[in-house]
Amino acid sequence: TTFIINCAPVDVGQGAGALVCFEDITHVEQIGQMRRDFVANVSHELRSPLTALSGFIETLRGPARDDEVARERFLAIMQDEASRMERLVKDLLSLSRVESEERQRPTTEIDILRVIGSVLHSLQPLILGNNIEIVQEFANDKIILAGDQDQLQQVLTNLIENAIKYGGRDQRVHVRASTTNDEPTMRGPAVVVAIRDQGPGIDQIHIPRLTERFYRVDSHRSREIGGTGLGLAIVKHILNRHRGRLRIDSTLGNGSEFRVILPLGKNI
Ligand code: ADP
Repeated sequence: TTFIINCAPVDVGQGAGALVCFEDITHVEQIGQMRRDFVANVSHELRSPLTALSGFIETLRGPARDDEVARERFLAIMQDEASRMERLVKDLLSLSRVESEERQRPTTEIDILRVIGSVLHSLQPLILGNNIEIVQEFANDKIILAGDQDQLQQVLTNLIENAIKYGGRDQRVHVRASTTNDEPTMRGPAVVVAIRDQGPGIDQIHIPRLTERFYRVDSHRSREIGGTGLGLAIVKHILNRHRGRLRIDSTLGNGSEFRVILPLGKNI
């Protein structure tokens, strides 16, 4: 705990006294530390592709100048590194935008089933490329809620992309959506969208930390797959803005289920 102690002499009528004020600034300190950690993480994440790029540029201008095969190989790696930086900057911008809008409640009425449809449509190349079977189970024809269409699209894209990326090829991914009146974390009716994969699952110890920025279970694998470590942090902030929740159920060896819970209608 960190305190600021302020003292001032006071005269309360019965002689001189002292006023001592204790101000608990633990929370402010923690926020400062989080900000410093974040800047350090961002710098680290940006530095590694930059170091790789400058190394390859040097080699291409020097020893590999006349080696056509090496040149092609190095250029391909450089392109990957540049895309990695692009993804990182894009996710950082999303995160900062989402954070700055977090207090404005969305008011537009949208049909979450249509959002799911459009996410699945735009992920078709990834779905087909990995031979994934998407099983859709919807209990209603439409589910209307007050939300930000683009942001909820981003939430579901991140979760379905993760199910495919981490779940692996040739698997079935279930996407369920239903409404409920007795979701314990909501005061009224809610919609639950569940995304279940048949992948390797996640060890319990990691689950509470998955929505932290740059937290990855296996950083090497995440980087290889093209992850930035920011996807679930973005999901969490968007759901905060919608007064929603993310629940993660996973067992090692038995796949993972990510459930998005959003309040319906009057609750917002
Ligand atoms: P990334 O950009 O690395 O994918 P995310 O924030 O989206 O970052 O996810 C954080 C970490 O959670 C991932 O690095 C991965 O280790 C783990 N993860 C997310 N979704 C799944 C999943 N469906 N199955 C297994 N692990 C997952």
